[in-house]
Amino acid sequence: MSPFVIPNRIFDPAAECMPRTERAGFQATHLRRTVEQARKIPFYRRKFAEKHITADSIRSVEDLQRLPFTTKQDLREAYPFGFFAVPRSELARVHASSGTTGKPTFVGYTRNDMKIWAGLCARFLVAGGLTADQLVQVSFGYGLFTGGFGLHQGIERVGAAVLPASSGNTQRQIMLLRDAKIDTLICTPSYALNLAEVIAAQGIKRGELALKFAHFGGEPWTEEMRCAVESELGIFAFNNYGLSEIIGPGVAGECAARTGMHIQEDHFLVECLNPETLEPVPEGEEGELVITSLTKEACPIIRYRTRDLARLYYDPCPCGRTTIRMSRIKGRSDDMMIIRGVNVFPTQIEEALLKVDGTAPHFMIELTRPGNLDEAVVKVEMRPQEFSDKMEAMHRLRDNISREITAITGLHFHVELVEPNTLERFTGKAKRVIDKRNLSC
Ligand code: ADP
Ligand code: ZN
Repeated sequence: MSPFVIPNRIFDPAAECMPRTERAGFQATHLRRTVEQARKIPFYRRKFAEKHITADSIRSVEDLQRLPFTTKQDLREAYPFGFFAVPRSELARVHASSGTTGKPTFVGYTRNDMKIWAGLCARFLVAGGLTADQLVQVSFGYGLFTGGFGLHQGIERVGAAVLPASSGNTQRQIMLLRDAKIDTLICTPSYALNLAEVIAAQGIKRGELALKFAHFGGEPWTEEMRCAVESELGIFAFNNYGLSEIIGPGVAGECAARTGMHIQEDHFLVECLNPETLEPVPEGEEGELVITSLTKEACPIIRYRTRDLARLYYDPCPCGRTTIRMSRIKGRSDDMMIIRGVNVFPTQIEEALLKVDGTAPHFMIELTRPGNLDEAVVKVEMRPQEFSDKMEAMHRLRDNISREITAITGLHFHVELVEPNTLERFTGKAKRVIDKRNLSC
Protein backbone atom coordinates (compact mmCIF):
# COMPACT_ATOMS: atom_id res chain seq x y z
CA MET A 1 0.00 0.00 0.00
CA SER A 2 1.26 3.49 -0.79
CA PRO A 3 2.40 5.41 2.28
CA PHE A 4 0.80 8.54 0.80
CA VAL A 5 -2.75 9.74 1.21
CA ILE A 6 -2.41 12.05 -1.81
CA PRO A 7 0.21 12.31 -4.60
CA ASN A 8 3.69 13.06 -3.30
CA ARG A 9 4.71 16.47 -4.71
CA ILE A 10 7.72 18.60 -3.82
CA PHE A 11 7.85 22.37 -4.48
CA ASP A 12 11.60 22.90 -4.18
CA PRO A 13 13.31 19.50 -4.48
CA ALA A 14 16.83 20.97 -4.58
CA ALA A 15 16.35 22.47 -1.12
CA GLU A 16 13.93 20.01 0.44
CA CYS A 17 15.80 16.86 -0.65
CA MET A 18 19.36 18.19 -0.26
CA PRO A 19 21.72 15.59 1.26
CA ARG A 20 22.06 16.25 4.98
CA THR A 21 25.82 16.81 4.92
CA GLU A 22 25.46 19.41 2.21
CA ARG A 23 22.74 21.16 4.18
CA ALA A 24 24.94 21.27 7.28
CA GLY A 25 27.53 23.30 5.34
CA PHE A 26 24.85 25.67 4.13
CA GLN A 27 23.51 26.04 7.67
CA ALA A 28 26.94 26.87 9.09
CA THR A 29 27.49 29.62 6.50
CA HIS A 30 24.08 31.07 7.22
CA LEU A 31 24.44 30.81 10.97
CA ARG A 32 27.60 32.90 10.66
CA ARG A 33 25.72 35.49 8.57
CA THR A 34 22.88 35.52 11.05
CA VAL A 35 25.26 36.28 13.91
CA GLU A 36 26.69 39.12 11.86
CA GLN A 37 23.23 40.47 11.11
CA ALA A 38 22.07 40.02 14.72
CA ARG A 39 24.98 42.19 15.90
CA LYS A 40 22.99 45.16 14.61
CA ILE A 41 20.50 44.54 17.44
CA PRO A 42 21.64 45.97 20.81
CA PHE A 43 20.37 42.94 22.77
CA TYR A 44 22.50 40.52 20.76
CA ARG A 45 25.50 42.88 20.60
CA ARG A 46 25.51 42.91 24.39
CA LYS A 47 25.02 39.15 24.74
CA PHE A 48 27.71 38.35 22.15
CA ALA A 49 30.16 40.64 23.91
CA GLU A 50 29.47 38.92 27.25
CA LYS A 51 30.12 35.50 25.69
CA HIS A 52 32.97 36.61 23.39
CA ILE A 53 31.12 35.54 20.28
CA THR A 54 32.12 36.87 16.89
CA ALA A 55 30.71 35.84 13.52
CA ASP A 56 34.13 34.47 12.50
CA SER A 57 34.13 32.10 15.44
CA ILE A 58 31.06 30.30 14.05
CA ARG A 59 32.46 27.36 12.07
CA SER A 60 29.76 24.72 12.23
CA VAL A 61 26.20 24.18 13.39
CA GLU A 62 27.56 22.88 16.70
CA ASP A 63 28.59 26.44 17.53
CA LEU A 64 24.90 27.13 18.02
CA GLN A 65 25.31 25.77 21.57
CA ARG A 66 27.45 28.78 22.47
CA LEU A 67 24.85 31.31 21.41
CA PRO A 68 22.50 33.07 23.84
CA PHE A 69 18.79 32.31 24.16
CA THR A 70 16.05 34.81 23.34
CA THR A 71 12.74 34.82 25.21
CA LYS A 72 9.38 36.42 24.60
CA GLN A 73 10.15 38.68 27.53
CA ASP A 74 13.34 39.90 25.80
CA LEU A 75 11.25 40.81 22.75
CA ARG A 76 8.67 42.57 24.90
CA GLU A 77 11.30 44.62 26.66
CA ALA A 78 12.54 45.89 23.31
CA TYR A 79 9.02 46.87 22.20
CA PRO A 80 8.28 48.21 19.61
CA PHE A 81 11.21 47.84 17.20
CA GLY A 82 14.23 46.98 19.34
CA PHE A 83 14.74 43.63 17.60
CA PHE A 84 14.82 45.08 14.08
CA ALA A 85 18.21 44.84 12.37
CA VAL A 86 17.42 47.04 9.36
CA PRO A 87 16.42 50.68 8.97
CA ARG A 88 12.80 51.54 8.22
CA SER A 89 13.67 52.19 4.57
CA GLU A 90 14.51 48.51 4.11
CA LEU A 91 11.29 47.20 5.63
CA ALA A 92 8.61 45.83 3.35
CA ARG A 93 6.08 44.63 5.93
CA VAL A 94 5.44 44.70 9.66
CA HIS A 95 3.23 42.15 11.44
CA ALA A 96 2.57 41.38 15.09
CA SER A 97 2.02 38.16 16.99
CA SER A 98 -1.59 37.45 17.88
CA GLY A 99 -0.90 38.30 21.49
CA THR A 100 -2.27 35.05 22.89
CA THR A 101 -0.08 35.36 25.95
CA GLY A 102 0.07 39.13 26.44
CA LYS A 103 1.05 42.27 24.58
CA PRO A 104 1.82 41.52 20.92
CA THR A 105 5.36 41.86 19.59
CA PHE A 106 6.19 43.37 16.21
CA VAL A 107 8.09 41.53 13.53
CA GLY A 108 9.45 43.03 10.33
CA TYR A 109 10.32 41.71 6.88
CA THR A 110 12.55 43.00 4.09
CA ARG A 111 11.62 42.31 0.45
CA ASN A 112 13.94 39.35 0.51
CA ASP A 113 12.41 38.01 3.76
CA MET A 114 8.99 38.21 2.11
CA LYS A 115 10.19 36.30 -0.93
CA ILE A 116 11.64 33.54 1.24
CA TRP A 117 8.52 33.42 3.39
CA ALA A 118 6.22 32.95 0.37
CA GLY A 119 8.44 30.10 -0.84
CA LEU A 120 8.35 28.38 2.55
CA CYS A 121 4.57 28.49 2.66
CA ALA A 122 4.45 27.22 -0.93
CA ARG A 123 6.54 24.22 0.13
CA PHE A 124 4.11 22.93 2.75
CA LEU A 125 1.04 23.81 0.69
CA VAL A 126 2.32 21.76 -2.24
CA ALA A 127 3.30 18.94 0.12
CA GLY A 128 -0.34 18.97 1.26
CA GLY A 129 -1.84 18.71 -2.21
CA LEU A 130 -2.03 22.29 -3.51
CA THR A 131 -1.80 22.65 -7.30
CA ALA A 132 -2.15 25.67 -9.56
CA ASP A 133 -5.70 24.60 -10.48
CA GLN A 134 -7.16 25.14 -7.04
CA LEU A 135 -9.09 27.99 -5.44
CA VAL A 136 -8.19 28.46 -1.79
CA GLN A 137 -10.24 30.20 0.87
CA VAL A 138 -8.04 31.82 3.49
CA SER A 139 -10.11 32.16 6.66
CA PHE A 140 -7.21 33.23 8.83
CA GLY A 141 -7.22 36.83 9.97
CA TYR A 142 -5.17 39.21 7.81
CA GLY A 143 -4.86 41.94 10.42
CA LEU A 144 -1.55 41.89 12.26
CA PHE A 145 -1.53 38.10 12.63
CA THR A 146 0.95 36.50 10.19
CA GLY A 147 -1.38 33.63 9.22
CA GLY A 148 -3.55 35.35 6.60
CA PHE A 149 -0.90 37.09 4.52
CA GLY A 150 1.66 34.33 4.98
CA LEU A 151 -0.57 31.67 3.47
CA HIS A 152 -1.93 34.12 0.89
CA GLN A 153 1.55 34.70 -0.54
CA GLY A 154 2.34 30.99 -0.48
CA ILE A 155 -0.77 30.18 -2.49
CA GLU A 156 0.10 32.84 -5.06
CA ARG A 157 3.63 31.47 -5.31
CA VAL A 158 2.22 28.03 -6.16
CA GLY A 159 0.12 29.69 -8.85
CA ALA A 160 -3.21 28.76 -7.30
CA ALA A 161 -5.98 31.32 -6.79
CA VAL A 162 -6.79 32.88 -3.42
CA LEU A 163 -10.09 33.94 -1.98
CA PRO A 164 -9.05 36.16 0.93
CA ALA A 165 -12.12 35.67 3.13
CA SER A 166 -10.24 36.57 6.34
CA SER A 167 -11.69 35.44 9.67
CA GLY A 168 -15.18 35.78 11.12
CA ASN A 169 -18.73 35.88 9.71
CA THR A 170 -19.33 32.14 9.57
CA GLN A 171 -22.47 32.42 7.42
CA ARG A 172 -20.55 34.26 4.75
CA GLN A 173 -17.64 31.82 4.97
CA ILE A 174 -20.00 28.95 4.24
CA MET A 175 -21.69 30.81 1.41
CA LEU A 176 -18.26 31.38 -0.15
CA LEU A 177 -17.19 27.77 0.32
CA ARG A 178 -20.30 26.58 -1.44
CA ASP A 179 -20.84 29.18 -4.14
CA ALA A 180 -17.20 29.56 -5.15
CA LYS A 181 -16.69 25.77 -5.10
CA ILE A 182 -13.62 26.14 -2.94
CA ASP A 183 -11.22 23.14 -3.05
CA THR A 184 -8.92 24.14 -0.20
CA LEU A 185 -9.62 25.74 3.15
CA ILE A 186 -7.15 27.47 5.45
CA CYS A 187 -7.99 28.29 9.07
CA THR A 188 -7.43 27.10 12.63
CA PRO A 189 -8.60 23.54 13.35
CA SER A 190 -11.11 24.77 15.92
CA TYR A 191 -12.67 27.11 13.39
CA ALA A 192 -12.91 24.27 10.87
CA LEU A 193 -14.87 22.29 13.41
CA ASN A 194 -17.13 25.24 13.94
CA LEU A 195 -17.70 25.55 10.17
CA ALA A 196 -18.40 21.81 9.89
CA GLU A 197 -21.05 22.05 12.55
CA VAL A 198 -22.83 25.02 11.05
CA ILE A 199 -22.70 23.37 7.61
CA ALA A 200 -24.35 20.25 9.06
CA ALA A 201 -26.93 22.27 10.99
CA GLN A 202 -27.93 24.09 7.83
CA GLY A 203 -28.51 20.80 6.07
CA ILE A 204 -25.88 21.52 3.41
CA LYS A 205 -25.01 18.24 1.69
CA ARG A 206 -21.47 17.05 1.09
CA GLY A 207 -22.12 17.18 -2.67
CA GLU A 208 -22.83 20.92 -2.52
CA LEU A 209 -19.26 21.56 -1.43
CA ALA A 210 -16.15 20.93 -3.52
CA LEU A 211 -13.78 20.97 -0.55
CA LYS A 212 -10.95 18.49 -0.76
CA PHE A 213 -7.98 19.81 1.22
CA ALA A 214 -7.39 21.87 4.33
CA HIS A 215 -4.28 23.29 5.93
CA PHE A 216 -4.65 23.90 9.63
CA GLY A 217 -2.31 25.61 12.03
CA GLY A 218 -2.06 28.32 14.64
CA GLU A 219 -3.09 26.21 17.63
CA PRO A 220 -2.57 22.70 19.02
CA TRP A 221 -4.89 19.95 17.81
CA THR A 222 -4.95 16.18 18.04
CA GLU A 223 -5.01 13.26 15.62
CA GLU A 224 -8.54 12.51 16.89
CA MET A 225 -9.56 16.02 15.88
CA ARG A 226 -8.09 15.44 12.41
CA CYS A 227 -10.22 12.30 11.99
CA ALA A 228 -13.34 14.13 13.15
CA VAL A 229 -12.92 17.15 10.86
CA GLU A 230 -11.84 15.05 7.88
CA SER A 231 -14.88 12.84 8.09
CA GLU A 232 -17.29 15.70 8.72
CA LEU A 233 -16.06 17.80 5.81
CA GLY A 234 -14.84 14.97 3.55
CA ILE A 235 -11.34 16.44 3.25
CA PHE A 236 -7.65 15.69 3.78
CA ALA A 237 -6.42 17.97 6.56
CA PHE A 238 -2.73 18.87 6.88
CA ASN A 239 -0.91 20.35 9.82
CA ASN A 240 1.52 23.25 9.55
CA TYR A 241 3.45 25.07 12.23
CA GLY A 242 4.91 28.51 12.57
CA LEU A 243 5.10 31.51 14.82
CA SER A 244 5.41 35.18 14.13
CA GLU A 245 8.63 35.64 16.09
CA ILE A 246 10.33 33.21 13.72
CA ILE A 247 8.60 34.15 10.44
CA GLY A 248 4.92 33.17 10.71
CA PRO A 249 3.55 30.05 9.03
CA GLY A 250 6.19 28.17 7.02
CA VAL A 251 8.51 26.86 9.73
CA ALA A 252 7.29 23.29 9.24
CA GLY A 253 4.50 21.37 7.54
CA GLU A 254 3.30 17.87 6.78
CA CYS A 255 4.01 16.01 3.58
CA ALA A 256 1.65 13.52 1.98
CA ALA A 257 2.88 10.75 4.29
CA ARG A 258 1.61 12.75 7.31
CA THR A 259 4.11 11.33 9.78
CA GLY A 260 5.26 14.61 11.30
CA MET A 261 5.92 18.11 9.96
CA HIS A 262 9.07 18.63 7.88
CA ILE A 263 11.13 21.46 9.30
CA GLN A 264 12.47 23.89 6.68
CA GLU A 265 16.00 23.32 7.88
CA ASP A 266 17.71 25.45 5.27
CA HIS A 267 16.05 28.47 6.95
CA PHE A 268 15.65 27.43 10.58
CA LEU A 269 17.75 25.49 13.06
CA VAL A 270 15.43 23.75 15.49
CA GLU A 271 16.62 22.32 18.80
CA CYS A 272 14.49 20.27 21.20
CA LEU A 273 15.60 21.05 24.75
CA ASN A 274 14.65 20.12 28.26
CA PRO A 275 12.96 23.37 29.40
CA GLU A 276 14.50 23.10 32.88
CA THR A 277 18.11 22.22 32.08
CA LEU A 278 18.17 23.64 28.54
CA GLU A 279 20.09 20.53 27.47
CA PRO A 280 19.01 18.62 24.33
CA VAL A 281 16.54 15.80 25.00
CA PRO A 282 17.27 12.38 23.44
CA GLU A 283 15.94 11.90 19.90
CA GLY A 284 12.17 11.36 19.82
CA GLU A 285 11.59 12.66 23.35
CA GLU A 286 9.44 15.60 24.21
CA GLY A 287 11.06 18.96 24.78
CA GLU A 288 10.74 22.68 24.11
CA LEU A 289 11.44 23.79 20.56
CA VAL A 290 14.15 26.43 20.39
CA ILE A 291 14.51 28.02 16.97
CA THR A 292 17.21 30.06 15.24
CA SER A 293 16.56 31.78 11.92
CA LEU A 294 19.23 31.34 9.26
CA THR A 295 18.27 33.70 6.46
CA LYS A 296 16.17 36.47 7.98
CA GLU A 297 17.37 40.02 7.40
CA ALA A 298 14.91 42.30 9.21
CA CYS A 299 14.48 40.29 12.40
CA PRO A 300 17.17 37.65 12.76
CA ILE A 301 16.47 35.64 15.87
CA ILE A 302 18.74 33.37 17.85
CA ARG A 303 17.71 30.40 19.95
CA TYR A 304 14.17 31.62 20.48
CA ARG A 305 12.43 29.75 23.28
CA THR A 306 9.04 29.00 21.71
CA ARG A 307 7.58 27.32 24.82
CA ASP A 308 6.02 24.87 22.35
CA LEU A 309 6.44 21.25 23.37
CA ALA A 310 7.06 18.65 20.67
CA ARG A 311 9.37 15.81 19.56
CA LEU A 312 11.86 15.68 16.68
CA TYR A 313 12.21 12.72 14.32
CA TYR A 314 15.38 12.14 12.35
CA ASP A 315 14.51 8.94 10.46
CA PRO A 316 14.08 9.19 6.67
CA CYS A 317 10.63 9.97 5.32
CA PRO A 318 9.25 8.03 2.33
CA CYS A 319 8.49 11.32 0.56
CA GLY A 320 12.18 11.85 -0.23
CA ARG A 321 12.65 15.06 1.76
CA THR A 322 15.79 14.89 3.87
CA THR A 323 14.70 17.36 6.51
CA ILE A 324 13.95 16.34 10.08
CA ARG A 325 10.33 16.24 11.20
CA MET A 326 8.55 17.49 14.29
CA SER A 327 5.55 15.93 15.99
CA ARG A 328 2.32 17.73 16.66
CA ILE A 329 2.66 20.39 19.34
CA LYS A 330 1.33 19.02 22.59
CA GLY A 331 0.75 22.54 23.85
CA ARG A 332 2.68 25.56 24.92
CA SER A 333 4.26 25.40 28.31
CA ASP A 334 1.99 28.42 29.09
CA ASP A 335 -1.11 26.31 28.28
CA MET A 336 -0.06 23.63 30.68
CA MET A 337 -2.33 23.44 33.72
CA ILE A 338 -0.91 22.10 36.92
CA ILE A 339 -3.84 20.48 38.68
CA ARG A 340 -3.11 18.92 42.04
CA GLY A 341 0.50 18.77 40.97
CA VAL A 342 -0.22 16.94 37.73
CA ASN A 343 0.60 18.50 34.36
CA VAL A 344 -2.36 18.57 32.00
CA PHE A 345 -2.77 20.06 28.53
CA PRO A 346 -6.06 21.05 26.88
CA THR A 347 -5.13 18.73 23.97
CA GLN A 348 -5.42 15.76 26.35
CA ILE A 349 -9.01 16.70 27.15
CA GLU A 350 -9.73 17.06 23.43
CA GLU A 351 -8.29 13.59 22.84
CA ALA A 352 -10.48 12.10 25.59
CA LEU A 353 -13.67 13.77 24.36
CA LEU A 354 -13.17 12.60 20.82
CA LYS A 355 -12.99 9.03 22.06
CA VAL A 356 -16.55 9.24 23.38
CA ASP A 357 -19.50 9.23 20.99
CA GLY A 358 -22.13 11.85 21.55
CA THR A 359 -19.97 14.81 22.50
CA ALA A 360 -18.71 17.60 20.30
CA PRO A 361 -15.10 18.60 20.96
CA HIS A 362 -16.26 21.99 22.21
CA PHE A 363 -15.22 22.27 25.80
CA MET A 364 -14.21 24.73 28.45
CA ILE A 365 -12.12 23.93 31.48
CA GLU A 366 -12.66 25.82 34.69
CA LEU A 367 -10.22 25.56 37.55
CA THR A 368 -11.00 26.60 41.10
CA ARG A 369 -9.45 26.05 44.51
CA PRO A 370 -12.25 26.13 47.06
CA GLY A 371 -10.03 24.95 49.95
CA ASN A 372 -6.49 23.76 49.50
CA LEU A 373 -7.22 21.41 46.66
CA ASP A 374 -7.75 22.18 43.02
CA GLU A 375 -11.10 21.38 41.47
CA ALA A 376 -11.34 20.91 37.74
CA VAL A 377 -14.60 21.17 35.86
CA VAL A 378 -14.92 20.51 32.19
CA LYS A 379 -18.01 21.73 30.43
CA VAL A 380 -18.65 19.60 27.41
CA GLU A 381 -21.08 20.31 24.65
CA MET A 382 -23.31 17.55 23.43
CA ARG A 383 -24.21 16.80 19.87
CA PRO A 384 -27.83 17.76 19.12
CA GLN A 385 -28.81 14.18 18.22
CA GLU A 386 -27.49 12.86 21.53
CA PHE A 387 -29.04 15.50 23.71
CA SER A 388 -31.97 13.95 25.53
CA ASP A 389 -34.02 14.23 28.67
CA LYS A 390 -33.28 10.63 29.63
CA MET A 391 -31.29 10.99 32.81
CA GLU A 392 -29.80 7.56 32.53
CA ALA A 393 -28.35 8.14 29.07
CA MET A 394 -26.90 11.45 30.21
CA HIS A 395 -25.30 9.90 33.27
CA ARG A 396 -23.78 7.14 31.19
CA LEU A 397 -22.31 9.66 28.79
CA ARG A 398 -20.91 11.75 31.63
CA ASP A 399 -19.32 8.70 33.23
CA ASN A 400 -17.74 7.65 29.94
CA ILE A 401 -16.21 11.08 29.48
CA SER A 402 -14.98 11.16 33.04
CA ARG A 403 -13.39 7.72 32.63
CA GLU A 404 -11.57 8.69 29.41
CA ILE A 405 -10.24 11.87 30.96
CA THR A 406 -8.97 10.00 33.99
CA ALA A 407 -7.36 7.35 31.76
CA ILE A 408 -5.43 10.04 29.87
CA THR A 409 -4.64 12.54 32.61
CA GLY A 410 -4.77 10.46 35.79
CA LEU A 411 -7.05 13.12 37.31
CA HIS A 412 -10.70 13.37 38.14
CA PHE A 413 -12.57 16.14 36.32
CA HIS A 414 -16.18 17.01 37.14
CA VAL A 415 -17.94 16.70 33.83
CA GLU A 416 -20.82 19.04 33.09
CA LEU A 417 -22.78 18.30 29.95
CA VAL A 418 -24.12 21.41 28.34
CA GLU A 419 -26.64 21.90 25.57
CA PRO A 420 -25.55 22.04 21.95
CA ASN A 421 -24.28 25.44 20.78
CA THR A 422 -23.92 27.01 24.20
CA LEU A 423 -20.14 27.30 24.53
CA GLU A 424 -18.24 30.12 22.93
CA ARG A 425 -17.05 29.59 19.32
CA PHE A 426 -13.74 30.98 18.11
CA THR A 427 -12.91 32.31 14.69
CA GLY A 428 -9.17 32.11 15.35
CA LYS A 429 -7.31 30.41 18.14
CA ALA A 430 -9.51 28.74 20.75
CA LYS A 431 -9.20 29.67 24.45
CA ARG A 432 -10.24 26.73 26.56
CA VAL A 433 -9.14 27.35 30.12
CA ILE A 434 -10.55 29.66 32.76
CA ASP A 435 -8.33 29.55 35.79
CA LYS A 436 -10.11 31.00 38.83
CA ARG A 437 -7.56 29.75 41.34
CA ASN A 438 -5.74 32.49 43.09
CA LEU A 439 -2.32 30.96 42.69
CA SER A 440 -0.32 33.95 43.76
CA CYS A 441 -1.12 33.53 47.44
P1 ADP B 1 0.93 34.22 19.60
O1 ADP B 1 2.21 33.71 20.17
O2 ADP B 1 0.56 35.55 20.07
O3 ADP B 1 -0.20 33.21 19.62
P2 ADP B 1 1.41 33.56 16.82
O4 ADP B 1 0.22 33.89 16.05
O5 ADP B 1 2.70 33.80 16.22
O6 ADP B 1 1.30 34.42 18.10
O7 ADP B 1 1.24 32.04 17.24
C1 ADP B 1 2.25 31.10 17.20
C2 ADP B 1 1.93 29.97 18.15
O8 ADP B 1 0.77 29.25 17.70
C3 ADP B 1 3.01 28.93 18.20
O9 ADP B 1 4.04 29.31 19.09
C4 ADP B 1 2.24 27.71 18.70
O10 ADP B 1 2.04 27.76 20.10
C5 ADP B 1 0.90 27.86 18.03
N1 ADP B 1 0.85 27.07 16.80
C6 ADP B 1 1.06 27.46 15.54
N2 ADP B 1 0.89 26.45 14.66
C7 ADP B 1 0.58 25.35 15.39
C8 ADP B 1 0.31 23.97 15.08
N3 ADP B 1 0.30 23.52 13.85
N4 ADP B 1 0.07 23.14 16.13
C9 ADP B 1 0.08 23.60 17.38
N5 ADP B 1 0.32 24.87 17.75
C10 ADP B 1 0.58 25.74 16.76
ZN1 ZN C 1 7.85 13.43 4.21
